[in-house]
Amino acid sequence: MNTAFLGLGAIGRPMAARLAAAGHTLVVWNRTRERAEQFARDTGASVAASPAEAARNADVVFTCFSTSRDVQSVLDGSDGLLAGFARGAVLVDCTSGDPATSKTIADALAARGVGFLDAPVSGGVSGAEKGTLTVMVGGDAAVLQAVRPAIEAFAGKIVHCGPVGAGDAVKAVNQAFLAIHLLAAAEGLVTLVKQGVDPKVALDVINASSGRSNSSMNLIPERVLTRAFPRTFRLALLEKDIGIAAELARQSRVPSPVTQLTADVFRIARGELGEAADHVEIVKMVEAWGGAEVK
Ligand code: NDP
Repeated sequence: MNTAFLGLGAIGRPMAARLAAAGHTLVVWNRTRERAEQFARDTGASVAASPAEAARNADVVFTCFSTSRDVQSVLDGSDGLLAGFARGAVLVDCTSGDPATSKTIADALAARGVGFLDAPVSGGVSGAEKGTLTVMVGGDAAVLQAVRPAIEAFAGKIVHCGPVGAGDAVKAVNQAFLAIHLLAAAEGLVTLVKQGVDPKVALDVINASSGRSNSSMNLIPERVLTRAFPRTFRLALLEKDIGIAAELARQSRVPSPVTQLTADVFRIARGELGEAADHVEIVKMVEAWGGAEVK
């Protein structure tokens, strides 16, 4: 397929590399142009001067920006996606976005005969590199069917979740689980360290028991006990995600004290740890509060 990829960040870059490796024609655009040029040198993709130019000959355009608002910001004007799209093309937005903005984007595209899918991903940078991401899709099933061969370049699992916005909603709730599990694990393990328990012993028990989670099974052993804290997924983005989940719960009139409180804690952490910190670094904040390290 003729594809374009906009947004070569931590996860966008390896996703786009999978598209090139799968043999799709690929044009890339990135706000910071040097990243697109480096990508083109590495993969043989071509670089577009603007979103409009990237969309011009594309059957499918992928976006992977920080927020849905960022996607909205590249739609209009002579350089914008809408100026380049042909009728019948499809925008697949892999941003972990918010359903309301995705619906607004979908309406603007539909008026020009362009399809839209919200298609956030899960599985991290390593899943993107291996092509095993889970992709949760909102939008028309026939549109998904048409672009599925391109999505398969980076997906291990593709799930149609419902109409536009459903993919974003599922992603936000998944991220709320991640944030809640990570914070709970940090609080519990700092407590156990102060009780004199070796955290490796504690995790040996918990990971064979009902309290286990991806945080206890993978993130904490690989990133906290080792003190490696690699920067693969920014805490600022997880704060954005749980903020979307908290807002959806409020709009749905679902009492959700755990989600709302965790969203607040992540907002504090974003302020304390900054925009570049990785999500797992929230453990450092809990360690500082509690006065003990999980190691
Ligand atoms: P990064 O911060 O690494 O990259 C963000 C990308 O978006 C960059 O290419 C940046 O361009 C671009 N961008 C941001 N704002 C704008 C804008 N206003 N206009 C144009 N381009 C913009 O983020 P990630 O790659 O980690 O994440 C991207 C999305 O994927 C997020 O929604 C995130 O929640 C989600 N995600 C991330 C995962 C991960 O493990 N990293 C896992 C699953 C989902 P520039 O280079 O110029 O800054």
